[in-house]
Amino acid sequence: MTATAPLPPAPLTRALDLIGNTPLVRLEGPSAAAGCDIYGKCEFANPGGSVKDRAALWIIRDAEARGVLKPGGTVVEGTAGNTGIGIALVANALGYKTVIVMPDNQSREKMDTLRALGAELVLVPPTKFANPGHFVHTSRRLAEETEGAVWANQFDNIANRKAHIDSTAPELWSQLDGRIDGFTCAAGTGGTIAGVGLGLKEKDENVRIALTDPHGAALYNYYAHGELEAEGSSVAEGIGQGRITANLDGAPVDTQFRISDEEGLHWVARLLREEGLCLGLSSGINVAGAVALGRQLVAEGREAPRVATILCDSGFRYLSTIFNADWLCEKSLPVFDWLAD
Ligand code: PMP
Repeated sequence: MTATAPLPPAPLTRALDLIGNTPLVRLEGPSAAAGCDIYGKCEFANPGGSVKDRAALWIIRDAEARGVLKPGGTVVEGTAGNTGIGIALVANALGYKTVIVMPDNQSREKMDTLRALGAELVLVPPTKFANPGHFVHTSRRLAEETEGAVWANQFDNIANRKAHIDSTAPELWSQLDGRIDGFTCAAGTGGTIAGVGLGLKEKDENVRIALTDPHGAALYNYYAHGELEAEGSSVAEGIGQGRITANLDGAPVDTQFRISDEEGLHWVARLLREEGLCLGLSSGINVAGAVALGRQLVAEGREAPRVATILCDSGFRYLSTIFNADWLCEKSLPVFDWLAD
């Protein structure tokens, strides 16, 4: 047998240092489909299993540095789940308590994980952002009412995007030896697209930054025509934004794609069956966007372009949803052929 990867690095001094420095992998099927190299940043390899571990660490470190989070304090956050998981792990490591507010239509796996990690979980019905019962507003109120608590406020706290300016973007730049033509991903808070975009543009302003928007989100129309208008809907968790969050403000978005759940599921299926990568739907949507961006760059005559995207979290987090035939049928989505009987 021949070695296929370099030897692992020396031991880290503590578990928190496991956040970030994730591998980058060339995706064969997407590269063949685009006619150029497509790379996926393996954010599912973070200790909490998602891209949001980085934001959680930066937000908590920032609150400590500002003196608002004191020893033994509590971190309160509203989240689709992954940020909560990241916050719970970082808070455990640093001696804080965690309270997480989450809409009750998110995957069962994320709720069970949060409880298992020791977070206090508050479930609220999914509502529009304008409703005071929305998970974001509920989490702000809980933070205000709890002594010694800080509100992480991932949507409008720019420590979130700074995580990606400081870590994800320089990692991508160095992993690709400074030769990267395009980057794309979807937005939840917008921290990843804005932070990686700003960080890469700092290195080379010709890197094309593309927003990949799911259906049901308003950002595609915003970047295309200046209007925050949503069309359709998506079952993808963690992505799909209807407003310009503080993290998105000033994001250097050059172009945009709109990707359906069906296209995202197509890539989830292919990456799993052909490359052995088990991913969530936001990763599939990101990969579909990366293929579109790769094709665009090839069509414009860029020589052998290289495009990177984010593999946000693992499919194991969605066994009860996108890997469940009954759930998919209920949502009128195609069932993976190996699960259909
Ligand atoms: N994918 C998943 C599965 C997520 O949980 C999130 C975070 N909400 C994202 C993508 C989007 O990341 P960001 O908040 O940085 O836009």
